[in-house]
Amino acid sequence: VAAVRDLTREFGDRTVLDRLDLEIAEGEFIALLGRSGSGKSTLLRALAGLDDEVAGEVAVTGSVAVAFQEPRLVPWRRVHANVTLGLHVPDAKARADAALAEVDLTARAGAWPLTLSGGEAQRASLARALVREPELLLLDEPFSALDALTRITMHHLVLTLWSVHRPAVLLVTHDVDEALLLADRVLVLDEGRIAHESLVTARRPRHRDDPELVSLHSTL
Ligand code: ATP
Ligand code: MG
Repeated sequence: VAAVRDLTREFGDRTVLDRLDLEIAEGEFIALLGRSGSGKSTLLRALAGLDDEVAGEVAVTGSVAVAFQEPRLVPWRRVHANVTLGLHVPDAKARADAALAEVDLTARAGAWPLTLSGGEAQRASLARALVREPELLLLDEPFSALDALTRITMHHLVLTLWSVHRPAVLLVTHDVDEALLLADRVLVLDEGRIAHESLVTARRPRHRDDPELVSLHSTL
């Protein structure tokens, strides 16, 4: 659904993405790891078409939806209106109802964003992405601000939604365990490039000494 070739992004004299290549196949679930400041969000913005100062090629064949690092809900619109924002299809309302039900937020559909808990706001943001029925879903650390229990609920939710709708997913995370629990393929961004790439043998929680976990930790 997407191919990036020779992608370079500079901020002043800093090269954040350096001739990066990446292919995203239909329906695959990719986790993108990398230290803070390694350029993960920058890559996501480029893929979403939100950055016109990148050099190189970004070819996206399907529709894209993004859930940003912060939920970014519009405070003066209720949750339901946030989900349908910019969605110009005749069945927008019904689709938003369905998306809110999928993230278990039906009861909060009429609420103001500022009255939502962190987890609810994340779920609203996820519903806003899902309602667009994207072929490529970009998730920028959607779970990092959540408590452990809510995060586990969200992991299940994302996996369920992914298995039903089958978008390609690019999930940015700092959490190696999360990457090995959710993704089929894990990428590590470093020095502006994909410095490491591995296929995940199975989606499951790992022991501390699990070889895939240890190997991934050593790349970070
Ligand atoms: P984190 O894990 O902390 O979210 P990240 O990997 O997402 O980090 P980016 O947000 O992509 O990192 O930023 C990569 C680098 O580019 C950082 O050093 C950041 O300061 C720089 N950068 C990002 N956006 C801008 C901008 N608009 N102007 C100047 N520098 C920027
Ligand atoms: Mg980021």
